Amino acid sequence: MDIPRIFNITESAHRIHNPFTPEKLATLGVALRLEAGTRVLDLGSGSGEMLCTWARDHGVVGTGIDMSRLFTEQAKLRAAELGVDAQVAFIHGDAAGYVAGDKVDVAACVGATWIGGGVAGTIDLLARSLRPGGIILIGEPFWRQLPPTEAVARGCLAHSITDFVMLPELLASFGQLGYDVVEMVLADQDGWDRYEAAKWLTMRRWLEANPDDELAHDVRAELNSEPVRYATYTREYLGWGVFALMPR
Ligand code: SAH
Repeated sequence: MDIPRIFNITESAHRIHNPFTPEKLATLGVALRLEAGTRVLDLGSGSGEMLCTWARDHGVVGTGIDMSRLFTEQAKLRAAELGVDAQVAFIHGDAAGYVAGDKVDVAACVGATWIGGGVAGTIDLLARSLRPGGIILIGEPFWRQLPPTEAVARGCLAHSITDFVMLPELLASFGQLGYDVVEMVLADQDGWDRYEAAKWLTMRRWLEANPDDELAHDVRAELNSEPVRYATYTREYLGWGVFALMPR
C-alpha cells in the first residue's frame, strides 16, 4: 500500500507537505495553548513534522497515520532526531475510517481531507476520536481570489471552481456543521513557495540521478511547466489554512 509514486519523488525532501513553514507550524502550536501530555491524533501525518516539533516544544504525545511508506519512515527518523520517539508513534497505513482506541485532545487532518471524503466527512471521522472539549484541526485550501473562469480553477489543479470556497464561506461552513472556529493560522504566498518551489530542485536532482526511470518523462514535463503554472495560478488564487474547531 502506498500513495502514487510521483508524490514520493517530488516531495521526498519536504518536511512539511503543505504551504505551512516551520514558523507557521510553531505559531499554530502556541495558538492552541498545548500542554505537556496533550494527546494528538494526526491523519495523513506526512513526514511527521507537526507531531515531532510539538512533542519537542510542548511535550505532546500522539500518533500519526500516513499511507506513504517513505514519509512514514522519514517521520520515525525525525522523531529519533528530535529525541521524541518515546512520545510519538507513526503508523504506515490507510487513515480512512481510523478511530483512536483512546480518545484524544487534538484530532487533526492537515491537508488530506479526502481521507474522510471531504471536509465534512473528515470532521465526522475525527470527532469519533475526540474527547469532550477537545479540538479538531482541519488544514484546507480556499480561494484567495475567486477564479474568473473554470480554466483558471483547473490551472490551480482543482477540478472546478466549486472544489473550494472563499475564506468567509469556509468559516461559515464549519458553523453549519455545528462547530465553533476557535483558532486559525493561514499560510501565505511565501509558504506556498516553500511547498511548491522546493519540489523543483528535488525533481531536477532526481532526474539527474534517475534518467532512465519510467517516470523520468513525467517528472521532466512537470519541471518544465510547474514554475510558470504555479506562479500564474496557485500562487495567486489559492489560500490555505489550518482551522481549529470545537463542537458547539
Ligand atoms: N499533514 C502532513 C501531510 C499533508 S500531505 C503535512 O502537513 O506535512 C497529504 C498526506 O496524506 C501525504 O503524506 C499522503 O501520503 C497522505 N495520504 C494520502 N492518502 C492517505 C490515506 N488514505 N491515509 C493516510 N494518509 C494518506
